Amino acid sequence: MYINGVWSGVSDRKEHAVMNPANGVAVDSIPLSTLDDCVNAVDSAAGAFESWSRTAPRDRSDLLYEAWRSLNARSDELAELIVAENGKTIADASAEVTYALDFLRWFAEEAVRIRGDYRLSPRGDKRIIVDRVPVGPALLIAPWNYPAAMITRKLGPALAAGCTMVIKPALETPLTAREIVRTFDELGAPDGVINLVTPGNAGPAVDRMLATGEIRKLSFTGSTAVGRILLRSTAEHVVKTSMELGGNAPFLVLEGASIEEAVEGAIQAKLRNGGAACTAANRLYVHRSCAAEFTERLAERISTLRVGSGVERINTVGALVSDAEVHKVRELIDQGVRQGANVVFQTEIPKRGAFMNITLLNGINSENVLTKKEIFGPVFPIVEFDDEVEAVRLANMTEYGLVAYVFGDEQAAMRVGHKLQVGMVGINRGVVSDAAAPFGGVKESGIGREGSFEGIDEYLQTKYLAISV
Ligand code: NAD
Repeated sequence: MYINGVWSGVSDRKEHAVMNPANGVAVDSIPLSTLDDCVNAVDSAAGAFESWSRTAPRDRSDLLYEAWRSLNARSDELAELIVAENGKTIADASAEVTYALDFLRWFAEEAVRIRGDYRLSPRGDKRIIVDRVPVGPALLIAPWNYPAAMITRKLGPALAAGCTMVIKPALETPLTAREIVRTFDELGAPDGVINLVTPGNAGPAVDRMLATGEIRKLSFTGSTAVGRILLRSTAEHVVKTSMELGGNAPFLVLEGASIEEAVEGAIQAKLRNGGAACTAANRLYVHRSCAAEFTERLAERISTLRVGSGVERINTVGALVSDAEVHKVRELIDQGVRQGANVVFQTEIPKRGAFMNITLLNGINSENVLTKKEIFGPVFPIVEFDDEVEAVRLANMTEYGLVAYVFGDEQAAMRVGHKLQVGMVGINRGVVSDAAAPFGGVKESGIGREGSFEGIDEYLQTKYLAISV
């Protein structure tokens, strides 16, 4: 916990043990923030806002560059910490660190490119000066699946824009957030600009922080269910919000697609982070003409993969974040099977730890629960389709709209991609995330964009000055 430049340890607060999901051993302990701590953190961010918002953009940029350099020099250490508290493999954690640090570098570059403009009134009675100013103290709430990237994707643009902030990481993975904040502290970020709180019960703590009326921006990444609650509570003070919510990504293999590329794309789109990614391919729609070959080759490919401890490089899929997450995934598979799904292949898993078998299923119809719910584990449900119109209809048959993947000849894949109701489309590729690209969803997958030029806009507001001529 870090409030107004002061770190608090576990000695004077209730303690929370952060567990390694691969072996059930405690990694470290953190103090649980009280409601008063949370309010103090907001006061501290509000108190620091005026002076931070007036710092030279070049100074803000330099701080972000220095943090990028410093964390880059310790990237292996950071990746190991992510493995310990989250359970993902070291390869996934290293990829996450690279992605996470890209946001610090990108927004160091964007800090000095905030543009306003100058307009003429058509009546000729005034000059219109349009300024872009920081929105105010921000509350940044992150999930556990990307302990570094979901912090830097918010902290980077907030700092660059001139906002101060209170960060609330997930209780499962607060240690990576602590390392990132510690780096900014060591580099001399002024007191109160960045605050970190770890309340035991997020709902009441966030309500209290919003009730102060000081928070002018809420950036949330997490489930759609919690996003809905936060949209309601931020309405009270008309807070500007960014919502990066759940996904249910369709993965389409069109007639004539390269099966080899589609299989590799599916592995990437599904197994990154063990399937615990909002961008994970959730349901695979495969043209009937190639479904048998695709299924067979995917099963063969999966049979070469291993599930196990994230620290051993031989494993492709690590632990899920908790036993509860494994239980949720198993329940979904059981329900899917009761609704007619057929398990084609399942990998072995270690006897102990929060591990989930990579599972391939077919015989699924469009009503099966495995096509409706966000699975968040290494599960591949295959649904067959007959033509492009049906594929687009099935892919769009969800309240979510984050990302889709389309494999096929480029013209057909682009044609289909344009018809999908999502914020992002991977054409013949299983990864879309990039700090330079606008990340975000449509429908119930969210509001707003993170990363790219759009990312900093989320922390700015427009102010217009009318000047008489
Ligand atoms: P979650 O919604 O349970 O929790 C996310 C964060 O919200 C955590 O910090 C949690 O402590 C906090 N929280 C929980 N209840 C709250 C409340 N009532 N008020 C305020 N804060 C509250 O989600 P999760 O299980 O940690 O993460 C998985 C979800 O996140 C998935 O649905 C996934 O798709 C989504 N996600 C989305 C993106 C994206 O960019 N769209 C990225 C990563 C994860």
